[in-house]
Amino acid sequence: MQFLQFYSEDGRIRPGVAEADRIRMLGTETLLEYIALAPHERIAWHTGDTLPLAGARLAAPVIPRRNVFCVGRNYLEHAKEGADVFGKELKLPEVPTFFTKAPSAIADPGADVHLQAAVSSEYDYEAELGVVIGTRCKDVREADALGVIFGYTCVNDVTARDLQRAHLQWFKGKSLDETCPIGPWIVSADEFHASDGINHAQHLAIGMEINGVQKQHSSTEKMIFSIPRLIAELSKGMTLEPGDVIATGTPEGVGFARKPPEFLRDGDVMEIEIEKIGTLRNRVRIR
Ligand code: MG
Repeated sequence: MQFLQFYSEDGRIRPGVAEADRIRMLGTETLLEYIALAPHERIAWHTGDTLPLAGARLAAPVIPRRNVFCVGRNYLEHAKEGADVFGKELKLPEVPTFFTKAPSAIADPGADVHLQAAVSSEYDYEAELGVVIGTRCKDVREADALGVIFGYTCVNDVTARDLQRAHLQWFKGKSLDETCPIGPWIVSADEFHASDGINHAQHLAIGMEINGVQKQHSSTEKMIFSIPRLIAELSKGMTLEPGDVIATGTPEGVGFARKPPEFLRDGDVMEIEIEKIGTLRNRVRIR
């Protein structure tokens, strides 16, 4: 199922679930509230009201109560291209490099993202598979990790590279307003987690096009730390909450590592496509 949020006629954001060409409205205030319900309680909140999906203006499917969790360098080829740019020897981490983006950076699918030329001259894109947590959990074992996932979405980890370098912590360069497009919806975990234990979310084509030209193209099977391992590591001694989002890292082909570097320009259209999920499209506006 595709869970989404959309703008109703009164301008409020409402949660829903896509059913063919319709949106079935959910009775909770937000999708976050729905995700926080126990799984057996959720179906009671599917209302009888529907509206056409075509023409609906979608909102980011979830705004977590706290920062979006991210993983740096989780694809080997991306780690290599980064090391090349800085002339460093490639040294892979033994545990995932977690950092976060402020929830205030989240942007809607389909929306223009407004960036400031005075703040950065090196805005860059990063296509990532987003994991949405569905169950409050801590100290999750890898073998149990798929059970705490609500679903999967696309995340664009837009980054101001010059700020990322200037500030030793990445937080500032990763948290500017509108630099975290999410969506277009969350596809529920049952569509990926097969009964034979295979996690199909770990075998998805993932790509980024800029103005229709492919810049990133990989597969989520190339992650250095698998999705269960990321959840196990992040939840060690730290409670994860329903609606928490983990952006699982980007593959190679980002702008700063291209020769010559290709940073985002005003008017550029960024399109992340992830198999079985869909396309997250945003136009860049730089003023
Ligand atoms: Mg990233």
